[in-house]
Amino acid sequence: VLENPIVLRVRDIEKSFQGLRAVDKLSFDLHKGEVISIIGPNGSGKSTTINLISGFIAPDAGLIDIENNPVAGLSAAEVSDRGLARTFQNGRVFAGLTVDENIGLGYHKKLRAQRPFSGLQRFPILKWLPLLAETGVALIPGPHVRRERREVEQRIGREIDRFRERLESRRSDYAYTLSYANRRRTEIARAHISEPTLLLLDEPTAGMNQSETAEVLRQLQFLKDQGHTILLVEHKIELVTALSDRVLAMDGGRIIAQGDPDEVRSNPQVVEAYLGK
Ligand code: ADP
Ligand code: MG
Repeated sequence: VLENPIVLRVRDIEKSFQGLRAVDKLSFDLHKGEVISIIGPNGSGKSTTINLISGFIAPDAGLIDIENNPVAGLSAAEVSDRGLARTFQNGRVFAGLTVDENIGLGYHKKLRAQRPFSGLQRFPILKWLPLLAETGVALIPGPHVRRERREVEQRIGREIDRFRERLESRRSDYAYTLSYANRRRTEIARAHISEPTLLLLDEPTAGMNQSETAEVLRQLQFLKDQGHTILLVEHKIELVTALSDRVLAMDGGRIIAQGDPDEVRSNPQVVEAYLGK
């Protein structure tokens, strides 16, 4: 995959919070079809890195390019328009929407990117509503949306097939009634259905038991086999080893080791960073 074009280029990005360097001159490239995992102890800057790339926070310095277009400093909605989709460390869905509606938002977003006036517009206010901004869309009920509805429903049906055992019976249930694991499945489906050029997943198995984790691993393996380009933050080392082409280990906002998964997990500095916390 290293011969594939670069989808994400990160150069010397920095972010401080009240004098604390959360991310300190971080640089790496992610190639098309590649899966990179970021590991590191709590507080090492992993989520901040994801938030910087996805436009939730702006870097103090440095460059971020997606498919050779600079995105550093753009809003989350604008970065999302450039083909990025993400999930959140604690799982975020629209509690007051059903499973189908949540997943459908991802597909509406994709359709809107193809057809700028397909009935979905962005309101300026979305900038201040992080989750809406991430999906990048608001549904405005109107003839366009009704026309799109059939297409979206069919596409959701196909998406749900991948999560069949779990989500099929919950499609018309509101997200607030879902188990934690089902909320996270819904979130991954919403990101995937938008056919992103770049997918960022922040600890997709956090808080999951062994069998749920194994199921997420199968889903991510499927996404990888489909050729998706993925940046994954994950602690569970079996999952990281199974999926990643390359691992970056962070500590104190910096990359302290990188390379193939086995090499990185046995690196003395990495072992020490974990033990020291
Ligand atoms: P990780 O995801 O690796 O556990 P984070 O990126 O969430 O780490 O956090 C890195 C450091 O930055 C931590 O010390 C954290 O407390 C701090 N931090 C993260 N976000 C904020 C914020 N919005 N305001 C202040 N400090 C923050
Ligand atoms: Mg985190």
